Amino acid sequence: MKGYFGKFGGQFVPELLMPPLEELETAMKDILPSPGFQAELDDLLQNYAGRETPLTLCPTLSEKLGFSLWLKREDLLHTGAHKINNTLGQALLAKHMGKKHLVAETGAGQHGVATAAAAARLGMSCTIFMGAEDVERQSSNVRRMKLLGARVEAVESGSRTLKDAINEALRNWIATQETTHYCFGTAAGPHPFPTLVREFQSVIGRETRSRMLEITGKLPDAVVACVGGGSNAIGMFHPFLEDKEVRLEGVEAAGTGAPGCQNSAPLNLGSPGVLHGQLTMLLQDTDGQILPSSSVSAGLDYPGVGPEHAFLHDTGRVFYGLVNDAEALNAFKTLCRTEGILPALESSHALAWVLEHPERFPKHGNVVVNLSGRGDKDMDIVRDHLQDIEAAC
Ligand SMILES: *Cc1c(COP(=O)(O)O)cnc(C)c1O
Repeated sequence: MKGYFGKFGGQFVPELLMPPLEELETAMKDILPSPGFQAELDDLLQNYAGRETPLTLCPTLSEKLGFSLWLKREDLLHTGAHKINNTLGQALLAKHMGKKHLVAETGAGQHGVATAAAAARLGMSCTIFMGAEDVERQSSNVRRMKLLGARVEAVESGSRTLKDAINEALRNWIATQETTHYCFGTAAGPHPFPTLVREFQSVIGRETRSRMLEITGKLPDAVVACVGGGSNAIGMFHPFLEDKEVRLEGVEAAGTGAPGCQNSAPLNLGSPGVLHGQLTMLLQDTDGQILPSSSVSAGLDYPGVGPEHAFLHDTGRVFYGLVNDAEALNAFKTLCRTEGILPALESSHALAWVLEHPERFPKHGNVVVNLSGRGDKDMDIVRDHLQDIEAAC
C-alpha cells in the first residue's frame, strides 16, 4: 500500500493536511528525478555543503579491534551534520514547487540551523518552531538561526519540547500551505516524508558503497548508524538493503541505562501506535499517552522512530542495539584521543556499539560507522558528564 513499510507508515493526518501532502508527493515523483533538479542539488551538495565526504580509516582503533574501522565523515559537512543533505534537498524542491517560505520543527536546534541555512542560500524566508524548554536549553542554536534570518517561535504547549514543536509546525502548515513548504527534519512523519527524506539522505550510503568498492574492491562487512528519527541511518542503510552479505546495525539511545529509566529506544522498548501522522514504534504508556524520552544526546531524543525502521526491525534485515549515556561518552572520549576527531554525542552512540561489541564483527573485516555529526555543539554536556565517569572509573 502507498506510503506503507509493512504495516508501518501511512498518513494519519487531519483532512486539511491531505492537499499539501499530495502536492508534495507529486513534486517528489515529477520534479525530484528530473536531470535539471538533480544537477542543481548535486552542485549545492558539492560546492555549498562540502560533499563528497571522506571515508576515514581509524588505524589505532582498527589495530585494537582486529578489524578495519572506517568512519563516513558527515561531521565535515556545512552546519556540522548530515541534516544539510535533507534541508538543501527539500528547500530546493520547495522552490521548484513555487513556495516562498519554509516552516520546520527543531529539538536541539540542529535541524533549525540547517533549515535556516538552506533557506538563506536559496532566497526563501523561514519560521522555526521550537519547544520553549528547548529555546532556553539551546540558546546558541537559537542565535545561529536568527543570524541566518529565521524567525524562531517558542512553543508553550504540552511538554514544551520537540513533540509539541512538530504538532505546532503541522498546524501552521495547514494555514500556510499555498506559499509554504514544511521541511520535516527526519525520515518520519506522514507519507511522503519518510521516503522523501530517505531519498535525500541516501547519498550517504551511495558514496560509502562506491568508495568502499574503490578502496577495498568489496562491500563492507557491516555498517552501523545511530537512530533518532532515523534519517542518517536510513540514508546509510538503504543502498545496502539488497546486499544480504552486508550486516546493518542501528543503535538506539538507552538513556542512563538504569532499569525503567527514560530512554529514546522505541524499537527495543516501545510498542506500535500513531504519532505525528504515522503508525510506528513509540514510547507510550498502556493508555497510549506518549512517554517523555531522554538521552544525553539531544538529537536522539524523540519518542518515535521513522516507520521504515519499524519495518526493518520487524523483518530482521536490520539489527537495532542499545547504547547508554556512559558508553556513548566513553566512545566520544576514545575517538578524540585515538583519532583526533570530536564526534557528536549522537554519532558516539553508533561508535560505542562497535567498541562495546567487537565480537559481533568479523576479524580482518571492514566495518563502517556513520559519523553523522561533529561534537563541538556538545562540549558543555561532555564537560559535565565526563567528570562523573572519570570519578567512577
Ligand atoms: C539530528 C541528529 C541525529 C539524529 O537524527 P536522525 O534523523 O536519526 O539521523 C543524529 N546525529 C546527529 C549529528 C544529528 O544532528
